[in-house]
Amino acid sequence: MVSKIDIGLDAFRKACRPPQRLSPSDYAHDRVAIYEGKSPYYDKHATPWMNEPLDQLANPECTELILLAPTGSGKTTMMEAAMAYIVAEDPGPTLIVGQTNATISEWFETRLMHTFRNTPETKHLIPSGKHRHKARKDAIIFPHMTLFSTGANISGTQARSMRRVLCDEPWTYTLGILRQAEARLHDRHNRQFILISQGGTIGDDWHEKWAQTNQRERHYCCPKCQLEQVYAWANVRYDEIQGDDVATSKTARIVCANADCDFVITEDAELRRSLSMKARYIQTTTGVDGSFGYRFCMLENWHVPLSRLVLERIKAMREVSRGNLELLKSFIQKRLADFWNDEKEDTRPELTGGGYSVADYANGEKWEDEFCRFMTIDRQQDHFWVGVRAWAIDGASRLLWFGKVDTWDRLKVIQEQYGVENRKTQIDCGFQKDEVYKRCAQYGWLALRGDQRDSYPHKNKAGNTIYKGYSRYQNVTASDGKKTMVAFFSNLAIKDTLHQLRNGKGVKWEIPDDIGNEYLQQIDAEVRRGEGRSAIWKPRRRDNHAVDIEAEQVTLASMLGLIGTPDDEPEESQ
Ligand SMILES: [Zn+2]
Repeated sequence: MVSKIDIGLDAFRKACRPPQRLSPSDYAHDRVAIYEGKSPYYDKHATPWMNEPLDQLANPECTELILLAPTGSGKTTMMEAAMAYIVAEDPGPTLIVGQTNATISEWFETRLMHTFRNTPETKHLIPSGKHRHKARKDAIIFPHMTLFSTGANISGTQARSMRRVLCDEPWTYTLGILRQAEARLHDRHNRQFILISQGGTIGDDWHEKWAQTNQRERHYCCPKCQLEQVYAWANVRYDEIQGDDVATSKTARIVCANADCDFVITEDAELRRSLSMKARYIQTTTGVDGSFGYRFCMLENWHVPLSRLVLERIKAMREVSRGNLELLKSFIQKRLADFWNDEKEDTRPELTGGGYSVADYANGEKWEDEFCRFMTIDRQQDHFWVGVRAWAIDGASRLLWFGKVDTWDRLKVIQEQYGVENRKTQIDCGFQKDEVYKRCAQYGWLALRGDQRDSYPHKNKAGNTIYKGYSRYQNVTASDGKKTMVAFFSNLAIKDTLHQLRNGKGVKWEIPDDIGNEYLQQIDAEVRRGEGRSAIWKPRRRDNHAVDIEAEQVTLASMLGLIGTPDDEPEESQ
């Protein structure tokens, strides 16, 4: 016979069921509903790299969970599993921070609500009936906990006190937002700050957070030599098949880090899957107490062919050789889940001197191959940067002098010292234009101006319109009525040519052995960003004057037909 007390206790046990003893990944497996997943419920075997990070939700020692993960590898699904676990098994006020209000509320309304509505353990917790107003498109006031979401902005990340704050893609957040989101935890003893993102840039807030964790990296064990090693791009190999990127990419494989071992991970998805299933995270540094960091990369994900990654890499490296780092940056951040370093990834070769010194030409001496020389000037507020370069008829060139000059009079002295013709002395008129025009009129110099156009129309001898990277000279009048001329050039086209020359990919383009650090720093102060017509050369250091001066030199040499496409006709500069 069952006593009344037993019945009462049974009801009490059902109502106050203790949290299940399952780990979060076991809990989510086959239980938490996933919107548009490979299967309707979370599958811990589809993304084995997610299990240990997910399990940290139940670890009271873990106050920070930092997951550095490639895009398209189950990050969003993992967040949904985590939220279902939190709501059903380990509740507490929670804030989810997304990139913008719009992106986070869309995810919340569609994907996350799907999970809550279709997971048996969370379904009955969603406010309904007279409480239905408590389920909004960006927040739910559950009977036992509150859940808020916001974009990564000041107003959304203020005020409320939370047990958990989960930040999605913090690599996109503006400086300071991450710190503000973390402050919502108010140093609670059971707090968890959860960050999930692709790689960012060394030195940003996201990188700073990752750097202080214990940095657990995903290692696989070589079945042949038993060496445990990270999935590293350095071990990816492929055979170059001239002119056929697709065929090249199909030779992709990963070699063992042990040079004496000949084991190779091939494209075979079954092999890659079995290695991934047995892979594990190994802690690589000590880190701050309670800060658990995890990183894995796309090389482990057998759902994505190695050949696809290699093809992306080949295309990225081709852009790098043109000075455009965007694709490589994206590959490293999104595919390898690593941090980008602007200085490190730019593969331009180190500049070396041409075997002559500045003094060799300091008294106007001619270079033996010289056809003509230009002096180009970059105008600053209260000083100038100047370069004098001599050009040969075949487009080879030799920088004779580079430096900073304080006055107009001194510019004139240098022009005379180096014996540069007036018309071949040209100055940028982007700054203090009227004064530049007046000086040009006074000295017989001409003005130049780089702009955003990518080409300019010209008429060839047959009367047809052709396009070039610079414009014809136009008459301009200064405020004192004096006249001079100005030509425009395409920053993109001319600086692309300069980059080729600087990298030794064109005709000889020399600098003196003793040109000095200032020039060496400045000439590499810009990087190409973006693709196609929207690409730009962007300064990464404030002092980039050597780039402007050399771009003007390239413009003038192109006008004379010394460099550029062979069908360009020489352009008279007057
Ligand atoms: Zn091995």
